[in-house]
Amino acid sequence: MPLTDRDLSTILDDCAREARKEIGKGHVADYIPALARINPDQFGMAVCGVDGREWVVGDSDSSFSIQSISKVFTLALALQSPGASGVWDRVGREPSGNAFNSLVQLESEQGLPRNPFINAGAIVITDVITTHFVSPVLQILGLVRRYADCEDIYIDEEVARSEEESGHRNAAIAHLLKSQGNLVADVDDVLAAYYRQCSIAMTCRDVARAFLPLAAGGRHPLTGETLMPALRAKRINSLLLTCGLYDGVGNFAFRVGIPAKSGVGGGIAAVIPGHFAICVWSPELDELGNSLAGTRALEIFAQETNLSVF
Ligand code: GLN
Repeated sequence: MPLTDRDLSTILDDCAREARKEIGKGHVADYIPALARINPDQFGMAVCGVDGREWVVGDSDSSFSIQSISKVFTLALALQSPGASGVWDRVGREPSGNAFNSLVQLESEQGLPRNPFINAGAIVITDVITTHFVSPVLQILGLVRRYADCEDIYIDEEVARSEEESGHRNAAIAHLLKSQGNLVADVDDVLAAYYRQCSIAMTCRDVARAFLPLAAGGRHPLTGETLMPALRAKRINSLLLTCGLYDGVGNFAFRVGIPAKSGVGGGIAAVIPGHFAICVWSPELDELGNSLAGTRALEIFAQETNLSVF
């Protein structure tokens, strides 16, 4: 039986109610002031169907910092760039089992990042974009706007500047990659683009819409445009499932069972192929950097819809 509008509205209310119980148990990202001062008492969720229907609950139209969710958009851009053929020689496709900003594996594995969703891998992907496009940041923003079907999406320059000022670990990763021969462009240029992609501000509704092509075999149900081949959508979804939540990915697959990508801004974007693209947002994180209430909301959603990839 297909889920009716009423079913979905009830399910979203349940998700919000249960998720809100998690607020107060985590901590907001505090490595930059712009994220540290966010009111933790917020929760939003948007669900977009491949048939064009949409449901929202809570703070679904509040902008938040997408942070590492941007790594999915930059991967999509790199895979359609003139540098696409070299991507998988420079970045792996295995979970890292390490923190997203770890340097340890990069040193022992000679500069080949485990996957495109840890910082090291994402920095290599941004290098591909920086090398192949004259205005890398505009290209990234253009892709995000096109995927979200929204021209208002912007880069929060205050967040970007703070990322830059406090980005010693990312700078260390980029320099290590350069010394290992896996960074082509100038380190500062790559980092400038990387900090700006992290600082894109979007609402839950925007992010859910932007992930629709991954749920719909590469075609955008709202615009009718084909944004990527179906095989590429399937492959990106496989990476979300195995690498989308850093070293929390196994537990997330166990509890939720849906391919997803988190960011330290508290957002999680999720894809149920053939059905829905979802975004949840609540700023408090667990110790691995994934939204606590967001994870709980997706767990309830998977249970109540009886949908997952398993
Ligand atoms: N800006 C953050 C960083 O580069 C993004 C990390 C994240 O969202 N997990 O460290």
